[in-house]
Amino acid sequence: MKQTLTETLRNLKVSRVSFFVRLSIAIPEHMCYYLVKNKCSERGRGMQDSICESMTLEKKLDILSDAAKYDVSCTSSGVDRNGDGTGMGNCRKAGICHSFSADGRCISLLKILFTNECIYDCKYCVNRASNDVERASFTPEEVCTLTMEFYRRNYIEGLFLSSGILKSPDYTMELIYATLYRLRHVCRFQGYIHVKAIPGADQRLVRLTGYLADRMSVNVELPTAESLRLLAPHKSRKNILTPMRVVQNISEENRQEIALYRNAPRFVPAGQSTQMIIGATPETDYQILNVAESLYKKFDLKRVYYSAFVPVNHDSALPELPDMKPPLLREHRLYQADWLLRFYHFEAEELLDEENPNFNILLDPKCCWALKHLEQFPVEINRADYRMLLRVPGIGYKSAGRIVKARRMGQLRFEDLRKMGVVLRRALYFITCSGRMMYPVRIDEDSITRNLLNTKERLPEGVDGMTFRQMSLFDDVNFGEVNLQ
Ligand code: SF4
Repeated sequence: MKQTLTETLRNLKVSRVSFFVRLSIAIPEHMCYYLVKNKCSERGRGMQDSICESMTLEKKLDILSDAAKYDVSCTSSGVDRNGDGTGMGNCRKAGICHSFSADGRCISLLKILFTNECIYDCKYCVNRASNDVERASFTPEEVCTLTMEFYRRNYIEGLFLSSGILKSPDYTMELIYATLYRLRHVCRFQGYIHVKAIPGADQRLVRLTGYLADRMSVNVELPTAESLRLLAPHKSRKNILTPMRVVQNISEENRQEIALYRNAPRFVPAGQSTQMIIGATPETDYQILNVAESLYKKFDLKRVYYSAFVPVNHDSALPELPDMKPPLLREHRLYQADWLLRFYHFEAEELLDEENPNFNILLDPKCCWALKHLEQFPVEINRADYRMLLRVPGIGYKSAGRIVKARRMGQLRFEDLRKMGVVLRRALYFITCSGRMMYPVRIDEDSITRNLLNTKERLPEGVDGMTFRQMSLFDDVNFGEVNLQ
C-alpha cells in the first residue's frame, strides 16, 4: 500500500524538520536557505554582499579574535609566544584557545566572533552598539578558509564561533548556519565545532545549525531576569531559555532516533553549555549556584562557565571594582563549587544558605562544608561508602574510586592513601584508618581551620596576582583534582 510522506515520517518516528536536515545533507546549499525560511538563495548572497569586503582577512582575524576573548564558555589560554628557533611552532594569542573533547583530550580551537557589529547595547560588553570600536565581519567563506587553513597546518582541531547580532537574530543565525553548512558539506570539515545559538533566532535555524555543530551554547549572561533587564535590556530571560529548551528537546528526540537508527545524524553530540558573568550585578554566590544547579537539572547542560566581570566600559549601571580588578578568586570558588555539584553529589543548598550566602575566600567550599559538619567526621576509610568518601577534604573522585576498589583486597593504611593520590595534609583531620587517626589532633573547628589555612592552596596563575587574564579550563580541571581534594 502506498503511504503519504507524512505517514511515512510518522511511522518512522522521525520529525519533519529532522527529515529536512537529512535531505539538506544531499541538496545544494541554496536549497537549505529555502527550507529554513522559504526564502531563496538570493537572501544568503545578499547577506554576504553587505559584509565589508575591503578589510584584509588578517585584520578581520585580529579584530574578531580579540573581540571573542571575553567569552570563556570555551575557555581561553591567552598565550602569545614565539618559537625559539630550535623547534617547530609558536603560540599566537589571536584566536587560538583550548577546550576539552568529550573523551577528555585537550584540543585547540580557533576562537572568533563572526562579527563584532551588534544592534544590542549590553552595558558590560565591549562590542555593544554604543561603543566606538573598530568593527568587522567575516563572510562564511572567510571563516571556512581560516578554519581549513589552520586545520591543515595543525594549529587547531576545531572552531569556536560566536557572534554579535548583525541586523537581527535570524539574520545572524542564518549566517552562522551558512558558515557551518559550507564548512561541513563543501569543505568536508569533520573537526570539532562549538557554536553559539543566538537568542531570539528562529527555532528551525537553531535546529538545522545544531545538526552541523558538536556543541551549542546560549549564554545566560546574568543570574537573574532583573539583572538582565538592567544590564542587557535587549535580551530577555525567555529569549535565552527558549533556544536552550529547543536544544534540550531536540537532543532528547535525537537520542531516540539514534536508538532506532544507528546512522541517524547527530544533534549537538557534545551537548550544550552556558556562561554567567560574575560580579557585574549584586547576586550572591548562593543565588548564582542555585541558578547553575537548576540549569543543570532543568536543561541538561554539560557545563556552566563563570566569567569574572571585566570592566571594559564606563557606565553608571556597572559596579566600581576595587582597583578595576575582576573578581577572579570568587570565580575560582564558584568553579570549585560547580565541580562539587557535578562530580561530588553536593547540592547548592548544602554549600551555602541565606545566612552565609558567599563562599569563604580563604578556604575551598568542600573544606568549609566539612568544618560545618564535623559531627559526620572522622570517617573510617575502610568502611565509609563512596559518597561519604567524596565529601572528605583531600579525597578527589578518582582517589575515592581507587579506595573503594583497593579496600576489597585488604585493610588500607595511610601510606596506601598517599599512593592513591589522597592529599593527607588536608584529609588527616577527617579520616581514620582501621580506627586510628594519622596523628592525635584536636577535632574542633577553630583548630582545624587554623591548620588548613597553613596548608597553602594552589591557586591558578593570575588568581592571587589578580591579573586580567581569563580563567582557563586547565586551571579548572586542576582544581577538581588538586584543590577540591
Ligand atoms: S548581544 Fe550584547 S553581549 Fe552580545 S555582542 Fe551584542 S552587546 Fe555584546
